[in-house]
Amino acid sequence: REGRRPLIAGNWKMHMTHLEAIGLVQKLVFSLTEEELDAAEVVVLPPFTALRSVQTLVNGDQLAIGYGAQDLSAHDSGAYTGEVSGAMLAALACGFVVVGHSERRSLHGEDDAVVAAKTQAALRHGLTPIVCVGEGLEVRQAGGHVAHCTAQLDASLAGLSAEDVTRVVLAYEPVWAIGTGEVATPEDAQEVCGALRSRLAERFGPDTAAVVRILYGGSVKAASTAGILAGPDVDGALVGGASLDADEFAKICRSAA
Ligand code: PEP
Repeated sequence: REGRRPLIAGNWKMHMTHLEAIGLVQKLVFSLTEEELDAAEVVVLPPFTALRSVQTLVNGDQLAIGYGAQDLSAHDSGAYTGEVSGAMLAALACGFVVVGHSERRSLHGEDDAVVAAKTQAALRHGLTPIVCVGEGLEVRQAGGHVAHCTAQLDASLAGLSAEDVTRVVLAYEPVWAIGTGEVATPEDAQEVCGALRSRLAERFGPDTAAVVRILYGGSVKAASTAGILAGPDVDGALVGGASLDADEFAKICRSAA
């Protein structure tokens, strides 16, 4: 993996009140050793309403896990009812924010232009965007998955410099694998993650491509983690359902360490 530290990020989606979040983070942290947390970067992505509680836990106990949000506004402030800005997330000391998750793309009409604007907003506020790309089932069956994902990468990173891109994490999340229990094979994950890295090298240079972490996401469980992460271009996992179970998520983190 050429020195890239594995990253395991748990996307809780719309689960967990702030009180439940406290319990889950405490359980998670107590089941991981310092060495394991050193070997792999572990990040939780709770709903906005739980971020303050997670911040208090993490700062108070010097726990070595990171946290972040699942979305942010493309705007820095203003009349955008219901939105949350990058500045607000930075004020809560978030390290990460997911951008362009397929559920945001499909349920909230976020296109690549919106995703690019949100990626830039995250970087403006010192947050690491986890930029998601991934094909649907029809595209996969027609064999267009690599072209689809590299085109999404191009459009989602529009306007960024090579230096900006070194501060981005990418996530390959095939839509047909998200929440379906159908995990991609290690070969499928490597094929697309490798193609994304090649595309980064073409557009931003090999040095930039070599440092960007590329995650796989889609029905990852403890049992499938080691196989998926064996791919030389797969630097970690974005985990949905399995991140809500502290024991299972800890096992995933351990397999990556
Ligand atoms: C996700 O939502 O990013 C995800 C990968 O979900 P799941 O692990 O539940 O498929």
